[in-house]
Parts: sequence; structure tokens; C-alpha cells
Amino acid sequence: MHFNIIFLSFILLSSLFVEASAQATNETPFVKIGVLSHRGDEKTLKMWGPTANYLIAKLPQYDFEIVPLDFDAVEPAVKAEAVDFILVNSGIYVNLEAKYNVTRLATMINLRNSAPYSIFGGVIFAHSDRDDIQRLEDTQGKSFMAVDETSLGGFQMAWREFNAIGINPYHHFSRLEFGGIHDKVVMAVISGEIDIGTVRTGILERMSNAGLIDIDELKIINPKKNAKFPSLHSTRLYPEWPFSQLEHTDSQLAREVAVALFQMPKIDPALQAGKYAGWSIPLDYHEVHALFKQLKLPPYSSLSQLTITEAIKRYWYWVIASMVALLALLGLTSMVVRHNRELQYRQRRLERRHQLINESVADGIYGVDLVGNCTFINRAMTEMTGWTPEDLIGKNQHLILHHTHEDGSPFPRTDCPVYQSSFDNQPRFVEDDIFWKKNGSYISVEYSCTPLRGLRGETRGSVVVFRDISARKQAQKHVEEHQLQLAHVGRLSTLGEMASGIAHELNQPLTAISTNARACIRLLEADVDNAENCADVMEKIASQAERAGGVIRHIRHFTHKELPNIKPAKLKSMLNVVLDLVDREIKSKKIILELDLDQDAQWVMAQDIQVEQVILNLVRNAIESLESMPKAKRKLMIKTRSMPRGKVEIRVTDTGRGIKKVIQEQLFEPFMTTKDNGMGLGLSISQGIIEAHGSQIKVETPIGHSGVSFYFGLLQSSAKEVEEMKYA
Ligand code: ADP
Repeated sequence: MHFNIIFLSFILLSSLFVEASAQATNETPFVKIGVLSHRGDEKTLKMWGPTANYLIAKLPQYDFEIVPLDFDAVEPAVKAEAVDFILVNSGIYVNLEAKYNVTRLATMINLRNSAPYSIFGGVIFAHSDRDDIQRLEDTQGKSFMAVDETSLGGFQMAWREFNAIGINPYHHFSRLEFGGIHDKVVMAVISGEIDIGTVRTGILERMSNAGLIDIDELKIINPKKNAKFPSLHSTRLYPEWPFSQLEHTDSQLAREVAVALFQMPKIDPALQAGKYAGWSIPLDYHEVHALFKQLKLPPYSSLSQLTITEAIKRYWYWVIASMVALLALLGLTSMVVRHNRELQYRQRRLERRHQLINESVADGIYGVDLVGNCTFINRAMTEMTGWTPEDLIGKNQHLILHHTHEDGSPFPRTDCPVYQSSFDNQPRFVEDDIFWKKNGSYISVEYSCTPLRGLRGETRGSVVVFRDISARKQAQKHVEEHQLQLAHVGRLSTLGEMASGIAHELNQPLTAISTNARACIRLLEADVDNAENCADVMEKIASQAERAGGVIRHIRHFTHKELPNIKPAKLKSMLNVVLDLVDREIKSKKIILELDLDQDAQWVMAQDIQVEQVILNLVRNAIESLESMPKAKRKLMIKTRSMPRGKVEIRVTDTGRGIKKVIQEQLFEPFMTTKDNGMGLGLSISQGIIEAHGSQIKVETPIGHSGVSFYFGLLQSSAKEVEEMKYA
């Protein structure tokens, strides 16, 4: 109320000011009032011409003119500023307000059924017989008729109510029709042609008053009560047509016009012609906006599109940049996907190749992790050992393959070369070992374990590649046995020759001894006093016996009949030859070998092959003696020492059972043996060889342990002799 008084006094003051200035300039400017003309230009001019006349009379300094505008002409006229004021329905008004800043100055007070109202609404109705249609919800699936799709009171107001309860007229009615005029909608419902209808407020009362319908034949759906608005209605109420100024319209003029409209007397012919009751101060059109927003109708349907368009216009460079980035991203993604596919393909191929290699190699291969568990095995391993991947993978390989030595003694895990390789990161090659098979037997193997390193050089386990050497070992054993047999046969044949030689040599003196002995017996039988003759014969016997002894002595020197070809020989090389020959034996019998070679006594004067034979003999005897000892006590030591007077001592010591004193005295006699299969010639021949080198083999019992120590000396060769030998 307070606001209204201030507003009116402000407008009155401004009108006085406008009047004064117009008189001063003596001009009569044209003022155009655009009016929505839905019943033809003539009718519009007839209805609204008197209102223009009223304004001319009221504001003579202006020449007011009515411009009828049909529906499509309204917006272009406003856009082109072809009119200064506009009088349109509330729906068109909110559009113009949103788009062109059109401002309402007054709201029309309409004369409906002789009563003045500046608000109106919509009424939804059905035939009163229709018991099935009571509430708005019951309208679903029924036929529906409204006045016009763009009619605010004749459709859109009802639509908003339906929309609020989730009914979409375009989808949820069995039929949606538009009658064009209000009366047709009412008649269609009364006749039963349509189930439900909607028209603007006042229509039903008007038709009933005119006797066109019996209002009791209709029932109002969703009826609403409002003390200030007694007409039948089903929807919210909205303000009537506003009289508005355009953005360009002079504000002073606008104020003058508004004041004039508010002051329109009740008896003015303009009211009669326009069928309205006057003008009120402008009402709030917020509800009309809300309706259009909810139904997403213009201006709110195009507003979002407009926003997008404007956004594109304003931020086009971002849009382009985003598109380019998106395209680049798409390109990149497709490239990554392609590369990924390629990588996967290659990886599969590599894995396949890897698998093929693993499966086709004849050697067994398996992987071990840092705790000694098996990580993979190949097919050859399964074929050789009988263990399958299920048996081994994830389990401790040592406990399955390696737990025990060939002789049944336990194989501690910490001694396992595979475990050690993973532990100290050092590759290892083992040339003779065994792997236990699934069936409880074992195979002889040689294998390498190579540490597996990660990208940063850290150990990640090891790979073991092994080969079954059982067949090779068997073949080697055969060869050795064969060689032994050959050597035995050789020795037997030498012995045979020697025996026949001895027989031949001894035959004569023995025959003579026997003949003479018999002769002597005969002589003694014939005459006991034939002592002189007997003595002669005994003399012959003695000389023949001496001859036989000479033969034996001769045999002793048989081996060194020829003077050996003595020259500088490298001790280490001779020892290597010997050790190569006994290496397998030493290992298989678990004998610990200790070599202690004097670096100052490397060269000696020797017939190398013969001295090798001597050392071999001593070493073989030692090995044979050690065989009877427990494994822990089997030790063989070979030592060289330079001695006074340019000599080098070679000593072979063992920790074996030793030699009894009585046997020691006859050791170097031929055929002296304590072995079942021995010949007792080894030491005697060896002594002969060493004597031919101007020395002697001696024997002593070592101090501090069991066994025996054989040693002999050889002349050390001078540097000059060595040089000469090298250049010979
Ligand atoms: P054989 O070995 O054929 O018996 P040898 O002349 O080589 O002939 O040895 C003679 C004997 O000396 C052997 O039978 C053995 O009793 C004894 N003998 C030799 N070397 C050793 C040794 N290192 N330890 C114990 N006894 C030994």
C-alpha cells in the first residue's frame, strides 16, 4: 500500500514534467501501441481504438495509435522497435520480457461475466456421469481436448497441473485434441465425444448464463477454492494481460501512460469497447514464468540451447582446443591400444618360442627361487627323472632331487651347489653328481647352476641345466675295466715271459744240481768213505746253486738292464700325469688329496715315464691301503722338497693301515705281496728304476698318524740343463 502511494505520486510528478517539456517544444510525437490481434485487425482497432483516444485526450502532447499484430508479428515488431508499448497475453509477455526486456506497466482488469478480475485460471472438467473420473490421476488413458496448444488458460495451465502429478498430456492420454475455440471443447465433453476438457475460467459460467449448457451436466476435476476469485477453476491463478513498455521507450512517457491508465474513469467508453474494467498496478508474473519453466516451453526451452550456442560463441577457442585435445587423445589411445596389441602378440610369440625351446632341448632345465623352491621344469626333466611339474613346482628341489649321496650318506642342504649359487650369486658347474628319480633310483648327472638376476642385478634365484651322464659313466667304467684287464694280461704275459726265461735259465743249474746230487747219493751208497768224490760233486752242486742265484740276481736287474735316458723333467707334469690316471679313483673313494710342492724344486733329472711309473705305483699302493680305512681318515699326501747336495725328495704318504716291521724288511723283494691278487713286483721294479737313477726308495712310518711314507731322491736339474733341454 505504502509502495503504491509512493509509486503513484512519483508517476504524477513525472507526468507533470513531461507535459511541461512537450509544451515547450510544441511537438506531437507518434506513440505506437502494439496489440495482439487474434480476432482480426478491424475488431482489434474497434476494441482498442477508444483506449488510444483516451490516452490522446489525457496526454494531448502525444499522438497514440493502435497497431494490430497477429501472433507471428508480435516478436518481430518488438525486436525492430516498431512499437513503443505492447498489449499481449501473459504468455507472450513473459517471452518478450525474457528476450527483449519488455517491462509491464499495468495489468488489465478483465470483465468476465460482468465481474472485474485481474487474474484468471483454467478449469478441467468431465461429464458429470463419468464416475470413473474423479481426480486428476483418473484422467490417464482418457481422451482429452484443450483449446489451443499455445493457449495459456485453455491448455498450458491445465498441463502444468498434470505435469505436477507425472501425467504428460502428449503421452498419457488416449487422445489429445485441440478444439480451437472454448465453446467447442465444452460441447465435445457434454456430447460425450471427449472424456475430459479444459478451458479458461469464466467460460463455463458464461455458457451456462447464456443457456447454452446445463452446468450440472459437467463436473469440475481438481476444483480449487479462492475467496477473491469465485469462478470455477482447477489450476493455479495467473495475472491477466499486461500493458508494457519496450526497452527503448522513453521512461517519462511510460510513466505518463501508466498514470493515465490507472486514472481511467469507470465510465470511459474505452472500457466498454475493450470489454474490460480498468487497469491495476502491474501484478507479479512470476507464476507465468514458473509455468513456462516447468513445461520447458519458450523462452525456457530455447534458453538452454541459446546458452550452449552462446557458450560456443564465447569460448570457441576452448571448444576447438578441447576437440583437438580429444582427437589427439583418441589418436594416442588408439596408438597405445595398437602397440599394446602388438606387444601382447610378440610376448605370446616369445613365450611360445621359449616354451618350444624348453620343451625341445634334450637337457633337463629347472628354475629355483631364493628359498630353494622349484619355479618351473621342462619336459626333458620329467622324461629323465619322472618328476612332473605338479611334483616339483613350489617345493624344495634339494629335498626331492638331492637329499642323499650315491653311497647313502646324507647331503646337507647347505652343501647343495644349487642352493649355494642362489645364495652367493656365483655360477657353478658340477661334473659328477646324482639326482634322485621319482621311482627311487637315481641318474648320474653333470649340471650347471646359473644365478638369475633381476633388472637391478639382484639375485632372484637360479636356473639349473643338467644332463644325464649315466651312459657315459657306464662306458667310461667299461673302458677302465678293459684297461685294467689289458694291464693285467700284459703283466701276466710279462710274467709268463719272465717265468719261461727264469725256467730256461734255472733249468740248467737245477738239472746239474739234481744230477750231481743223485751222483753224490750214488757215490755215498756205493762207498760211504767216498767222501772226496762226494765233496767234488757237492762242489759242483754248490757252484750250480750259485749259478742259479746269479740267475735270480740277474732277473732282479732285469728291469734296469738298459741305462735310462735321464734328462730334465718337470716334477709337476709327471705328478699331473699320475693324478690324471687316479683322479676318478681318488674321488670315488672320497680320498682327500694334499699336494705340497716346493716351488724351488721344479725340475729333476729323470727318465720321466719310468719315474711316473714309480710314483703311480706308490700312489696306487697308498690308495689300496686307504680303502680299508673309514672315509674320514682317507688322506693321501704328495710332497716335494729340495734337499742338500742338489737333490729333490719326492715323498708319498698315506694314512692307511701301515706296514708291519717284518714285511717292511722284504718290501722290495720281488714277489713279496700281502694282497690276494698282488704280484709283489711293483716295489721291486720301482726300486730298480730309482736305483738306475742313482738313488733308493726308502720307507718310514709317519709320526702322528697311521700309514706309511715312501720317499726317494732325484738330482735337481740345473737351470742350464733345463735351458738346453728346452732348446734341444
Ligand atoms: P703288490 O702291490 O702287488 O703287493 P708291491 O711290490 O707293490 O706289490 O707291494 C708289496 C707289498 O708291500 C704289498 O703287498 C703291501 O703289503 C706292501 N705295501 C706296499 N705299499 C704299501 C702301503 N702304502 N701301505 C701298506 N702296505 C704297503
